[in-house]
Amino acid sequence: MTIDRYANRFVCDLVAYEPGKPIDETARELGLDPSQIVKVASNENPLGPSPKAKIAMRAALDEAHIYPDGGGYRLRSAIAQSVGLDLNHVVLGNGSNEIIELLCHTFLNRDTELIAATHAFVVYKLMATLFGAKYVEVPDPDFIHDLDAMADAITENTRLVFIANPNNPTGTMVDQAAIDRFMDRLPEQVIAVFDEAYIEFPAAPPDTLRYVREGRNVCVLRTFSKIHGLAGLRVGYGLAPAPLAALLQKARQPFNVNAIAQAGALAALTDTEHTGQTLKLNREGMAFYEMAFHQRGLEYVPSHANFLLVKTGGGDRIFRDMLKQGVIVRAMSSYKLPEWVRISIGTPAQNLRCLEVLDSVLAAAAVPV
Ligand SMILES: *Cc1c(COP(=O)(O)O)cnc(C)c1O
Repeated sequence: MTIDRYANRFVCDLVAYEPGKPIDETARELGLDPSQIVKVASNENPLGPSPKAKIAMRAALDEAHIYPDGGGYRLRSAIAQSVGLDLNHVVLGNGSNEIIELLCHTFLNRDTELIAATHAFVVYKLMATLFGAKYVEVPDPDFIHDLDAMADAITENTRLVFIANPNNPTGTMVDQAAIDRFMDRLPEQVIAVFDEAYIEFPAAPPDTLRYVREGRNVCVLRTFSKIHGLAGLRVGYGLAPAPLAALLQKARQPFNVNAIAQAGALAALTDTEHTGQTLKLNREGMAFYEMAFHQRGLEYVPSHANFLLVKTGGGDRIFRDMLKQGVIVRAMSSYKLPEWVRISIGTPAQNLRCLEVLDSVLAAAAVPV
């Protein structure tokens, strides 16, 4: 393709993100009814969207001909209030993935570096590559971010250090002491980004907002995609000291979060009934899988989030074989974990079906052909 010669080299070289396989696509390929398919591949909320959000979104449809509030005043105010910060600390994104991109826009170029853990969320690497920056990977023994080693890796060219907490796909979490030690060593040219997409799931999460309040070089990322069940809507946000938030505001498109999404997120934020039910369902599903994996002698990584990483051997094959039976899990070879699959916690019926299908493909794989 000659057109590649004229394109930005970093774009040409990029290996595109591979999302969880969509239900519709799977149904088409297998000739199945979409309702027969169980997708436990993208850490979505098995209860669906917050019911309060659904009502608010329906009401917002009548105003869909009007541009959204580009400043996101109501949603930002509500978020600020919910975490005890000010409006000017909050930046809205088209998913928290967009905030990752805004951070890279703002701080990366060819002379800079981004640091992340070996088994961190893969979007950091994609974004570093896209902006031509050096991606520095720090080993995470036992799948836990080693914040001391990450601090050791900082150079004068480092601008961003990403700490996913709890991390996806490992589900592990770093504690307050490790975070405090890391923050003590953070030089002024570096921003610590705490990606807290799953922070509502652990019982006792560490507090990073104190560093936002203190005006330190910190950006905390959160999302409506996971506990609030609004992944399809695309709303997330960054919490940062006002000068950093102001920079990120400049880097975004004027209407990056649509009006329906703003209305839905606003209603979801205070829907504690829905988040409470989600947490309960998640705890029960987690216990179900842990017990099942124990019984089967399958190694897994204890998780603080809404998914589990389990060592099945031959992850790509397990994924393909389960797919044929209508269950979508996530293979982990793109995370350098070819022996593992990641399973999102579903409803009890989904968990049972997923386990049955996993059992059947493991049994088939054990029989030599
Ligand atoms: C799911 C997830 C996100 C959130 O993505 P959205 O763009 O908000 O849907 C961010 N970081 C991690 C680590 C995730 O797993």
